[in-house]
Amino acid sequence: MDITAILTRLGIQKLNSGTSTGQQWLTTEGKTIDSYSPVNGKLIATVQTSDEAAYETVMKKAEEAFLFWRSVPAPKRGEIVRQFGDALREQKEDLGALVSFEMGKSLQEGLGEVQEMIDICDFAVGLSRQLYGLTMHSERPNHRMYEQWHPMGIVGIISAFNFPVAVWSWNTALAWVCGNVCVWKPSSKTPLCAVACQHVITKVLKANDMPEGISSLLIGNAVGDRINNDKRIPLVSFTGSTRIGRIVSAAVATRFGRSILELGGNNAIIISKDADLNMSIIGAVFGAVGTAGQRCTSTRRLIIHEDIYEEFKNKLVHAYGQLRIGDPLDQHNHVGPLIDKAAADMYVQAIEKGKKEGAKFVVEGGVLNGENYSSGCYVKPCIAEVENHYEIVQEETFAPILYLIKYKTLDQAIAIQNDVPQGLSSAIMTLNLREAEQFLSAAGSDCGIANVNIGTSGAEIGGAFGGEKETGGGRESGSDAWKAYMRRQTNTINYADSLPLAQGIKFDL
Ligand code: NAD
Repeated sequence: MDITAILTRLGIQKLNSGTSTGQQWLTTEGKTIDSYSPVNGKLIATVQTSDEAAYETVMKKAEEAFLFWRSVPAPKRGEIVRQFGDALREQKEDLGALVSFEMGKSLQEGLGEVQEMIDICDFAVGLSRQLYGLTMHSERPNHRMYEQWHPMGIVGIISAFNFPVAVWSWNTALAWVCGNVCVWKPSSKTPLCAVACQHVITKVLKANDMPEGISSLLIGNAVGDRINNDKRIPLVSFTGSTRIGRIVSAAVATRFGRSILELGGNNAIIISKDADLNMSIIGAVFGAVGTAGQRCTSTRRLIIHEDIYEEFKNKLVHAYGQLRIGDPLDQHNHVGPLIDKAAADMYVQAIEKGKKEGAKFVVEGGVLNGENYSSGCYVKPCIAEVENHYEIVQEETFAPILYLIKYKTLDQAIAIQNDVPQGLSSAIMTLNLREAEQFLSAAGSDCGIANVNIGTSGAEIGGAFGGEKETGGGRESGSDAWKAYMRRQTNTINYADSLPLAQGIKFDL
C-alpha cells in the first residue's frame, strides 16, 4: 500500500518535516505529534498540535459560525450534510485504508467505518426535516402550548482511537442538522484520520460558501482539558475510557454543561443450551478478536450453560487455532495489531493479573515477535476460564482476552452478566423464545444494547447507541438521540382577551 499516495489524495501534504492540517488558523508554534502505524511500527507523518492561540482562534470562529448556522433552515443544513456524505463516498477507499493503517483494524473494518459515516449522513439528511416537537392541549381557554427544539451552540467532540472517524461523524452529522457547530479533539493516537476528515468537510463547506467554523479540528492532549472547562461549549460529547470519562463528566457538570458519555464496556454473551452452537461460535469469536478486541462492544465474557460448556469450549479452542494474525490490510488475516506497545504491555499485565487470581488459560496469550510482527503490537488472542468476581474480569482490558464462565440457570446467567460495573452491550444465543424474552425484559440485561442471536459488537446507526452504569448513560446515532444535541423550549401562547392563571389561581387587581 502506498500510504504517501493515499495521504496526498486525501489532501494531506508533507510540509518539510511536518504535515499540513489544511487549516490556516493552526499556528506553526505548537508542538507536534508523531503518528506511527501499529501495522509496521513506522512513522507515517508528524502532525502539528493546536496551541493556546490556535484554540482561541478556533473558538472565536466557531462562535461566529454558530450565529450564522443556527438561522440556516434545518433542511438546508441537511443538504450540506448530504454533500458531505457524497464526498465521503468518493474518498471511501482511501479513508478506509488510512483508518486501517493508522489504527490497525482490518481493511474491511476500516471501509466499514467510513460506510458508517456515510450511513449517518443519510440518516441526518432525513432527520433535518423531522426535528419534531410535540403540541399539548392547554388547561386554559384560548391558549396553545407546544415545544420546539433549538440548537445549543458549540458542541465539543472528544473521541477515542478505536473508531477514529465514525464516532466523530455520529456526533457531528446530527449536531450540524440540529444547528450546532462542532469542535473536534480526536485521539492523539490517530490524528491523521482526523486531518483527512477535516479536509473532506472543509472542501464541502468552501464549495457552499459556508463559514469554516462550522467544523473545527483541534489536535493535542492539552485540548481535552481546555474543552472540559470552557463555558462557551454547552455540550461535550466524550467517547473514551471510564477513567477519563469520570474526569470529563465532573468538569463539565461543575460548569453546568451537558455531556454525552460513551465509555468502556464489559460485554457478555450468554450461550444457552438451546443455542445454535455454530452461529454462536462465529458471534463469539468475531466479538472477541475483531478489531483485536479493541471495540467498546468487544465480547469479553462468555457465560455458557453447564450442559454444553465443554463442547463449546472445545469448539472455541479449535476456532482460535484457525485464526491468522498479521497485517490487517491483508484480507486473509483475521486479527491485526493493538494500537501501540503500551496496549500490548497492558494486555500482558492483564494476563499475569488473571493468572494470579486463578484464571486457567485454555488458549495461551503472548506478544508476537518476528519479521511480520516488527511493530511489537501484535498479540495472540487468548481464552481463560474464570470466575466473574475476579478483579481482572470486572475491568475492561482493551485487548483480545476472552473469559469463560459456567452457569446452571438463566436467572444465574443474567445475574452474572449484569454483575460488572459497565453496562454497554449484551447478547443471548438461544432458540428458546422464553429465554430470549426473559433476557430482554426489565428483569433481564441491564445494558444499553441487548441482542438475541447476534454477538455484542457491530451496531447499526439506526438505533440509539450507548450504555448504562459506568458506560456513562449517553446515547448517540439513531432513534431520537438527536435530542441530546438540542435544547427544548416549551411555548405557551395566549390568544384570549384575559389572563387566566394556571391551576385556577386567582389574582385580581
Ligand atoms: P481514552 O480515555 O484514553 O482517550 C479518549 C480521548 O480522551 C482521547 O481523545 C484522549 O486524548 C482524551 N483525553 C485524555 N485525557 C483527557 C482529559 N483529561 N480531558 C479530556 N479528554 C482527555 O480512551 P482510548 O484509549 O482512546 O479509547 C478506548 C476506550 O474508549 C475504551 O474504554 C473503550 O471502551 C472506549 N470507547 C467507548 C465507546 C462507546 O461508544 N461507549 C466507543 C469507543 C471507545
